[in-house]
Amino acid sequence: MTGLVLRIAIPSPLYKIFDYLPPPGCDPATLRPGVRIRAPFGRQRVVGFLLELAEDSALGPALLRPAEAVLDTEPALPADVLALLNWAQRYYHHPPGEVFATALPVLLRQGEPAAPPVISPLWRITPAGHTALAEAATLRRAPAQRLLLEHLAQCPDGAEAEALRPLVHASPATLRVLREKGWVELTAPPLPSSESAAAPVAPIQPLILNAGQAAAIATVAAELDRFGVFLLEGITGSGKTEVYLRLIEAVLAQGRQALVLTPEIGLTPQLLARFRERLPGPLAVLHSGLSDRERLNAWLLARNGNARVIVGTRSAVFAPLQAPGLLIIDEEHDASFKQQDGFRYHARDLAVIRARQLGIPVVLGSATPALESINNAQSGRYRLLSLPERVGGGSSPLIEILDVRRQPLTEGLSPPLLARIRVHLNRNEQVLLFLNRRGFAPVLFCHECGWLSQCRHCDARMTLHLRRQRLICHHCGDDRAVDPACPVCGSVDLRPVGQGTERLETALRREFPTIGIARMDRDSTRRRGSLETLLTDIQSGDRQLLIGTQMLAKGHHFPEVTLVGIVDADQGLYGVDFRSSERMAQLILQVAGRAGRADKPGTVIIQTHHPDHPLLRTLAFQGYPAFAEAALAERREAQLPPFAHQALLRAEAVDAERATAFLKAARALAEPIADGLELLGPAPAPMERRAGRYRAHLLLQAVRRPDLHRFLDRWIVELWALRPDRQVRWALDVDPTELY
Ligand code: ADP
Ligand code: ZN
Ligand code: ZN
Repeated sequence: MTGLVLRIAIPSPLYKIFDYLPPPGCDPATLRPGVRIRAPFGRQRVVGFLLELAEDSALGPALLRPAEAVLDTEPALPADVLALLNWAQRYYHHPPGEVFATALPVLLRQGEPAAPPVISPLWRITPAGHTALAEAATLRRAPAQRLLLEHLAQCPDGAEAEALRPLVHASPATLRVLREKGWVELTAPPLPSSESAAAPVAPIQPLILNAGQAAAIATVAAELDRFGVFLLEGITGSGKTEVYLRLIEAVLAQGRQALVLTPEIGLTPQLLARFRERLPGPLAVLHSGLSDRERLNAWLLARNGNARVIVGTRSAVFAPLQAPGLLIIDEEHDASFKQQDGFRYHARDLAVIRARQLGIPVVLGSATPALESINNAQSGRYRLLSLPERVGGGSSPLIEILDVRRQPLTEGLSPPLLARIRVHLNRNEQVLLFLNRRGFAPVLFCHECGWLSQCRHCDARMTLHLRRQRLICHHCGDDRAVDPACPVCGSVDLRPVGQGTERLETALRREFPTIGIARMDRDSTRRRGSLETLLTDIQSGDRQLLIGTQMLAKGHHFPEVTLVGIVDADQGLYGVDFRSSERMAQLILQVAGRAGRADKPGTVIIQTHHPDHPLLRTLAFQGYPAFAEAALAERREAQLPPFAHQALLRAEAVDAERATAFLKAARALAEPIADGLELLGPAPAPMERRAGRYRAHLLLQAVRRPDLHRFLDRWIVELWALRPDRQVRWALDVDPTELY
């Protein structure tokens, strides 16, 4: 075994692969790429990932340490995921150890055996438990019991004890008490085995596909055995999900698996229920709300093929599959597919790469595709499949632009909008108001001396949250109590400036005192189950007026809503980022798409101080495709993505000088090798100070992608050799989607 060297991805932020000798006495047959290896690293022991075997090391065998143990008999990741990670590591130029760790569930990163899933029994509420919960008096003096019952009432499938633990400290004891009273029971979970896979599926309602759906399905289904990217464009309600379901059924019939990626927030109970109802066998669901154990179980079900359909958020793009047949990215334009820290990959782009490596189709679906994707469809790289109309006829909602200049605004609402709200409420219809800012007001201001609620750590104002009586910075999370008097001059004349959803809610309660109001944002849905309760209240018609942030824009459908008000469209029109108008357009249409149905089309009213903004007018009067056309023309003119390719070198430090000095040195290294590139900066980030650190960046741009990557391949090595000031944190962001 002399001469055998293991090349291991060690979870460390260093840009290198580490060489080790095999563990003493290990069987060389177990050393297959993809197995996990326990190895000493500095003074620690870590779990790394065997990438390849080599004959020798640049270090020379005398300097190598032996690894300690091989942890897997079979590779933890299948070959295709290894290939994807290798590709991603080279493309994003990120430290290999962190790249490979991203693909593994936490428990495997910690060295747990990748054994068959441990199925723990589930706690479920009984009918007697529901009765106890309904009788308010029964549980008045047992808040812990009440909390648990309320939670279980929201989990029709039951919940694992581990998942309940964070709710109440004493939950094992509480559960025992509840069980003795007969209010909860312990049930065996559905077995993720072939038996349950063969169980009868709910009969499929005989649904007749419309022409667009039939054509889309036929096109993809004819090419299931080769690589192709299909952009499925269709407004909300045009039947995209039905197309996904049919294609998944076709893939399952071939004995293969389908992987569906959705934005975190798109993983609504509605979507999962629809998948469960229509598709056979257990569904593996991968998202951030799972316990580590649940995540490992779902991951193993995908890997061993017990789950034929895997639904997950961003990082599920790396899910191991036993027989991959189809990838689907729902809401492909969504910003959450891009990871914004650490390993900054884009899950949509990686899904396309994975499909190419596997030779299978990938379907990207959206009502408002990313401009990048539209451009790819126009250039022939993607095939465009359109679903032009809503199922069952019915037009898309009518959009009106409402000029609010010189109008007296009541907490941001103009008299014409208030009048229209009243008309719809009087007709007993639902109204939805969209404002992408939570809290009461984005700033608190002293009328006496002009003091503003500035964050101590960021170039940002602290948002007033009146109900909680706190000022909170939405950028660094710092929060403090609201002072009764101005900290500078002592005046008590402190005034909230601007609107957040909380303030909008207060104003609307005053305006419409008899109407039930539902507010949907991160504050009002913090507690587990509260989102579901809100949705039920809305569906039942209990709440006629809905207010929310972008949380409203995804996944849910509110068929009784006939009026949508966009309270403030101006934030997006002149944002610092060249993508802000695209994001605003997508948000407006996504929100609009929640409303109305065939026999009750909706109306959308956009309040703005810039009623003549050309892109806004194009969007309102000609629709998203025309908007995209115009926005792409602007991008082409300005040589911005997708007509150029970018990478952003970010640096931050407590001391602004140090961050800039690093970027200057980086630029000096870049200049001699930057053929075909434009270098912009160093410049301060749009929000220069955040969480107490100064941030600056250097933007690199090339018209041709190969030029950029040829450059990055050389530059990244020099950057790591630079050994910068230890006070500086830096990161390379390839294809950045935010310039913050
Ligand atoms: P999208 O994903 O584009 O929003 P869905 O697939 O959810 O659209 O379809 C909207 C609604 O129409 C759903 O309730 C769905 O069950 C129903 N639907 C979809 N296709 C058809 C069809 N061909 N005939 C009748 N109803 C359909
Ligand atoms: Zn003051
Ligand atoms: Zn802050």
